[in-house]
Amino acid sequence: MPTTLVAEESQITNLNLMFGASGVKCNELVTTLSSEATTFDIIQSIIKTKTTEIHSPFSVLDLRVVIDLMNKWKTNLPFVKPFYAVKCNPNISFLGALASLGSNFDCASPTEIESVLSLGVSPDRIIYANPCKSEAHIKYAVSVGVNITTFDSVGEVEKIKKWHPKCELILRIKPKEETGARFRLGLKYGAFLNEVPELLKAADMAGLKVTGVAFHIGSMGANTQAYRGAILLAKTVFETASRLGMPKMKILDIGGGFSSGSKFDEASLNINDAIKSYFENEDDLIVIGEPGTYFAETTFTLATKVIGKRVRDELREYWIDDGIYGTLCRTVYDYFIVMCSILRFDSKHKYDTSEHTKTYPSTVFGPTCDSTDTILKEYPLPELEMNDWLVFSNMGAYTTACSTNFNGFSSSAKNIYVSYSS
Ligand SMILES: *Cc1c(COP(=O)(O)O)cnc(C)c1O
Repeated sequence: MPTTLVAEESQITNLNLMFGASGVKCNELVTTLSSEATTFDIIQSIIKTKTTEIHSPFSVLDLRVVIDLMNKWKTNLPFVKPFYAVKCNPNISFLGALASLGSNFDCASPTEIESVLSLGVSPDRIIYANPCKSEAHIKYAVSVGVNITTFDSVGEVEKIKKWHPKCELILRIKPKEETGARFRLGLKYGAFLNEVPELLKAADMAGLKVTGVAFHIGSMGANTQAYRGAILLAKTVFETASRLGMPKMKILDIGGGFSSGSKFDEASLNINDAIKSYFENEDDLIVIGEPGTYFAETTFTLATKVIGKRVRDELREYWIDDGIYGTLCRTVYDYFIVMCSILRFDSKHKYDTSEHTKTYPSTVFGPTCDSTDTILKEYPLPELEMNDWLVFSNMGAYTTACSTNFNGFSSSAKNIYVSYSS
């Protein structure tokens, strides 16, 4: 971990305060390892030092990764204010870290808003980015001072006029299809371009101010060129508003769909370039983004224990204590590349570093009685024994957030270890 990326002291103090007050079970902060320790080293050390009382499964939230990602965001997209999409991973310590690093928040429900407010974040750092809200939830937004929301229907305008007439509106539009995303959020939300004039007029008649445009190109694997097309589409909506004589729009919300890694660089180039091309004369433009996957995915690593084993000729079958109804829910999608490594300890609880050369085609089951609760099939693994560990990387985006208690088993959500460099 390069020392230049350590958060300022005040941030660390804030983080500590937040973790202390969060009520979340942070079993322990791992601070005794060298700053170069990998997440794998951290997991190993947790298991080694806490063998008797360790709760499995557990996850490690590596704040060093969050700090790196925030720095990367600020470097690549200096003019885009991040509003972290809470639904992706609502872990409170993670939210606290993001808050102290200056992130704002995209919330879709009162529960998400409450979590963010509980950290002392002021309500003007929250966008209620759900285009369809129940009346009760709109009333909740008024009561806590969340005053900006998205919409894409006349019905929503009517509700907001009635219950939250001072609310600022952002019009959610539908980007062109075939962005290549695995989760096409545009299937449900977003107005078509030909619906825009009617929606703008409805808001105007209701005395509501539409201050900007939002879109989401879709999650997981969307083509980064899609930002360019969507930004151009947003520009035409700005123009439509002007043509209809409405107050000048000022907010461009480019949504989520970012992954970390080289695809982020590609996305950033497309976004910066498109904003320069299409919005160059808009001096007071405010650009915001709603990254979820970008911040959460690589930040959490899951450790699960081998709790059962069966040998059938060459085939090895193992059970672990987390599965598709828990933290590993995304492994059911074939696009999700499972990155799994093993941690073995010898009888003296020493980490076993012997070379595991021979591998066997292995099946790894989750703990529930459902046979679809299978995480790996014909996956080459060395011979594992009971109480060995399987460690899964990139387990932060839409993992614990989507997990259930099916069959009475729970995910790693309640067993989070937080690591950061001080
Ligand atoms: C889910 C969602 C996001 C986050 O999407 P990612 O692809 O995970 O970054 C952002 N904005 C809205 C409105 C969403 O529904």
